[in-house]
Amino acid sequence: MLEIKGFIPNTMLDWEGMLASTVFLPRCNFRCPFCQNAELVLHPERLETVPFSVISDYLRDRSGWVDGVCITGGEPCLHEGLPGLCADFRARGVKVKLDTNGSLPGVLESVLAEGDIDYVSMDIKAPLEAGPYRIASGTDKPDLVDLVRRSIDILRSSGIEHEFRTTVVPLMHGPSEVARIAQQLQGEKRFILQHFSPRDTLDPRFSSLRPFTEEDMQAMLKQAQQYVPGATVRGAPASMSNQ
Ligand code: SF4
Repeated sequence: MLEIKGFIPNTMLDWEGMLASTVFLPRCNFRCPFCQNAELVLHPERLETVPFSVISDYLRDRSGWVDGVCITGGEPCLHEGLPGLCADFRARGVKVKLDTNGSLPGVLESVLAEGDIDYVSMDIKAPLEAGPYRIASGTDKPDLVDLVRRSIDILRSSGIEHEFRTTVVPLMHGPSEVARIAQQLQGEKRFILQHFSPRDTLDPRFSSLRPFTEEDMQAMLKQAQQYVPGATVRGAPASMSNQ
């Protein structure tokens, strides 16, 4: 049985241009040191399960008002019940967005083939090279970059609206890394650079990193736009509590 471990009834931040609800599925096969959902990834059993009736009642009561539901994690593709969840939301008259780290292309392909997903947001953690990807994802699966490449190809050929996004983290990313990622995404419509927030990170050492400024982000955006002219920055620079 698929357990939902978090529910944001409405947000305009998780799906651009949409008033959406967001549901959080537990567990992840990555251990990104900068992850801000550590409890969901490492100790989901400590989080309360949200009864599905809470979500379905909310969607029924806001029928015609909530545009869509974002399914995020953790890594949603780890769950066998994902296709059924997407179909259930669709049947309730809302659109469905899936967030994924792109490491499970077989699952991604089959869930897209079911036809119940309207939009996919896929993380690109680092340039598509073994070393940087191992560090950024916190995993050392030998074929990880090939799997991520396959997911990129699946999305590109799916005809489904999608975006690629990179959380830009000091020590891991700089103008050269951002340019290399963008080069690998050449031809894409949407590539989003997300601000990193140094709070409650999976690896506590990342909580003391000084985040990039807006100026830093704009400089990296210029690098990205050489290859993906529609690239944008999302979010606001985080302030540090201990600065
Ligand atoms: S940031 Fe990394 S570890 Fe955290 S949920 Fe996303 S893919 Fe998993």
